[in-house]
Amino acid sequence: MAYGSPASRALYARAPAWLRSLGATWHSLRVERQRFGPGYGDALARLDRSQWLPTADLVEASRREAAAFLADAVRQADHFAALFPAGAPADPAAAPILAKSDLRRNLPGFYARDAATHGATTLRHTSGTTGTPLELLTLVSAVERENAFAWQHRSWHGCPRGVRTATLAGHPVAPAEQDRPPFWVRNYAENQLIFSSYHMAPRHLPAYAKALARFDPELIHGYPSSVALVASAALEAGLRIRPRAVITASETLLPHQREVIAAAFGVPPRVWYGNTELAGNIVECPEGRLHVREEHSWLEFLDDAGGAAAAGQPARLIATAFGNRAMFLVRYDTADLAVPSAEAACPCGRGGRLVERVVGRVEDFVIDAAGRLVGRLDHLFKDATGIREAQLVQTEPGAIVVRVVPEGEPGPDLEAPVRAEAALRLAPGTRIAFEYVAALEKLPSGKTPFIVSRCREAAGDRARLAGPAAAADGGAADGAPPVR
Ligand SMILES: [Zn+2]
Repeated sequence: MAYGSPASRALYARAPAWLRSLGATWHSLRVERQRFGPGYGDALARLDRSQWLPTADLVEASRREAAAFLADAVRQADHFAALFPAGAPADPAAAPILAKSDLRRNLPGFYARDAATHGATTLRHTSGTTGTPLELLTLVSAVERENAFAWQHRSWHGCPRGVRTATLAGHPVAPAEQDRPPFWVRNYAENQLIFSSYHMAPRHLPAYAKALARFDPELIHGYPSSVALVASAALEAGLRIRPRAVITASETLLPHQREVIAAAFGVPPRVWYGNTELAGNIVECPEGRLHVREEHSWLEFLDDAGGAAAAGQPARLIATAFGNRAMFLVRYDTADLAVPSAEAACPCGRGGRLVERVVGRVEDFVIDAAGRLVGRLDHLFKDATGIREAQLVQTEPGAIVVRVVPEGEPGPDLEAPVRAEAALRLAPGTRIAFEYVAALEKLPSGKTPFIVSRCREAAGDRARLAGPAAAADGGAADGAPPVR
């Protein structure tokens, strides 16, 4: 695969498709032990039982695990030893909230001194848009555990491990300069076709759709932006692709993406929320509800004042990631926002607090003419037609460029519904301009940010919302995908 040394990448770039697929398969077999070793099966068996437990029991157990994790942190990590010289508090909520910039300042201070006694470790990297990626010391068993959560979720939707899987995420499986298909490789070890997210120019999309139809996947998963693009190409070409499930991750699933994916593939897309830090997991069940996986991490939903957030209100997601005993992320600010639900239980019968929606990154906000931070702007597109993809670009407060990849020639009715919605949500005087493009701006990770902001420093309020740290971070939009 294109992950190795410069020399092996150069070889890969010149290799024919069949050889690349062999390389991808070899790579997969090599890392398989890190993904599906004994920790995988153990975790899956535990989860199969615990998923049906009552929510109150699950939350209580999660809180107890967080308390034990904090006690270990005080004994085994310099950062926490300095915080609590007299010993760990019984209540994990007594620990201060941890921002990504705290980690950046003193990363080794969060590593467990006794990590090696808990098994093999590996270093995982966050994929920030700015700043150096963080090196996260991670137990191999924690990676296996994460995969157990992922495959259990897929099995809820009829897709246990081993089903024919198409992955459309940030995998660099074709060299950037390549201009002809195939932009995908077969991974025979995992019965998987892996597509590049980096080559989805309009002229290549029909080839993507055809390759997907030929592969005839049982499961499609990946970034919603990538899946939606191929979905619209499949619709245009009249291709019939009928997977059992479509699962999206790593970006907020927007309403127009949900629509085109459901229309193309005959099933509604389901959400997986997770992150590279292994801090929090929220997943959509077959009843269309988002469940907090309480067994995964201890998750708190906090309002701006630091109290428990009310149902129906956007809340900061704070996670204690006790699944990885090699590094202590206690009350870690994920910089993601979610809206807790007022519903107490799900008709599917599974436990876990319910979430109305994962709103997205704290960064997913614009500054209107009144200087307010406004989020949830995917609503701008709820009545729009003729839009294949959209992105909001802000270079100065109070002005927004709506960048659109139109479906065919942009019609005269395209802009009006978007402007009408914007007028409802943004302060008077906020300028809206449209820009028509062939493709949207992407991050190095291959993700497509919904909001591209070039005026973050103007967001004085943002510091309050995101914590002073995130602002200083330049708003690094990490959370590289646990999409494999
Ligand atoms: Zn449910």
